[in-house]
Amino acid sequence: MSEAKPVRAISTPIRLEYSYTAGRASTRFLRGMAQGRILGQRCPECGKVYVPPRGSCATCGVPTEEEVEVTGKGTVTTFCIVRIPSENLSIPPPFTCAHILLDGADLPFFALIQECPFDQVRMGMRVEAVWVPKEELGPTFECIKHFRPIDEPDAAYETYKEHL
Ligand SMILES: [Zn+2]
Repeated sequence: MSEAKPVRAISTPIRLEYSYTAGRASTRFLRGMAQGRILGQRCPECGKVYVPPRGSCATCGVPTEEEVEVTGKGTVTTFCIVRIPSENLSIPPPFTCAHILLDGADLPFFALIQECPFDQVRMGMRVEAVWVPKEELGPTFECIKHFRPIDEPDAAYETYKEHL
C-alpha cells in the first residue's frame, strides 16, 4: 500500500453578493454620472477638489460640502500597459490604463485609454471622457467608457508633477 500524499491546497469556487451603500458624497457623484456630469467636492481648508468626492479631505480631516463640477477633459499623469487578459474587460491586451487628472481636480483616478495605439499614451497627454449613449446613463462610474486623446498640446510636467 502506497502512502497517501498530504492535501496541501484545494480549489473551490466562491461567490460573494453584497450591497454597497454609497454614502452622501458618492451618491451625489453617482447621481451626477446619471446626468452626464462629473461632480467633485472642494475642501474648505486646503481648496483641493476631490473627484470622485470622498465626503472629507484626507489631508485636513474636515468634511467637504462645496460641490464642484469639472469637465471630462484631463491630463494623463502616469500610465501602465496591461498585457494580461482580464475577465472583467472585454478588451484584448495590450491596452493602456492611466491616472487621469481632470481639469479642476486635484486627485487623479484610474481609467482606460482607448482610441489610440496603446504605445502612444504618454505622461502629459491630454484626454477626454467618452460617455455611454445618453439613454444608457445611470448612477455608475461605467457611464464613462474610457478616455481618448484630444488634439491639444501635452501638458507641461510642472502642471501635474504634484499629482503623481
Ligand atoms: Zn483639505
